[in-house]
Amino acid sequence: MRIPLIAGNWKMHTIRSEAETLARAVVQACEGLQDREVMIAPPFTALATVAATVAGAKVALGAQNVAWEAKGAFTGEIAPPMLLDIGCRYAIVGHSERRQIFGETDALINRRLTGALAHGLTPVLCVGETLDEREAGQTLAVLERQVRAGLAGTTAENPVVIAYEPVWAIGTGKTATSAQAQEAHAFIRNLLAELHGQESADRTRILYGGSVKPSNVDELMAQPDIDGALVGGAALDGESFARIIHFQ
Ligand code: PEP
Repeated sequence: MRIPLIAGNWKMHTIRSEAETLARAVVQACEGLQDREVMIAPPFTALATVAATVAGAKVALGAQNVAWEAKGAFTGEIAPPMLLDIGCRYAIVGHSERRQIFGETDALINRRLTGALAHGLTPVLCVGETLDEREAGQTLAVLERQVRAGLAGTTAENPVVIAYEPVWAIGTGKTATSAQAQEAHAFIRNLLAELHGQESADRTRILYGGSVKPSNVDELMAQPDIDGALVGGAALDGESFARIIHFQ
């Protein structure tokens, strides 16, 4: 009942010419795709270029972050209507790089998430523990705090995607084992059921992120509670991302 979603987070990579080339490769990889969805989140400066390149293809556009107000004095921020105007359907919120490098708190991330929803964007809420937190046995407590705080004020009707991204696996080449990932995903789904009911939990997609690559995607996607992937590094390589999109 959950359509898998493979999402590429391009982070702070690609000028427009590079973005266009990469987006073309994604469009090609998505030809004839029936049973899964693909989303790419280029940097803001490449959104217009990528929107034009993917027009008419089965590739959704996402932003890497989003503000909550429609407009105003928020220097450096991008408003939800601006993203909708350029063709975005999704917005990533709470990525660990936003939390760790830019000091974004659970409360701020919740404002971004509810702002995105209020304007009709589907937020992709990223959650995940650091290595210290995992080693201290706090993984599930961290996930619970981040999911509860991130989803505060939402209802079962709000379309939300969750991405479980253990911080120690992002950009490090270390992937969570499929059993570790499944445990975290099942925990998050149970929490969603507690928050918004079983029906909502059953239809909410929970993506795994953290060094997903062609060699590990099949095993990860075989887990019952892994409904897709949020891919960083491997999404910058057209061939690798194509293989990930075509997971078996
Ligand atoms: C990410 O940035 O969300 C991510 C998972 O990166 P990588 O795939 O490079 O670990």
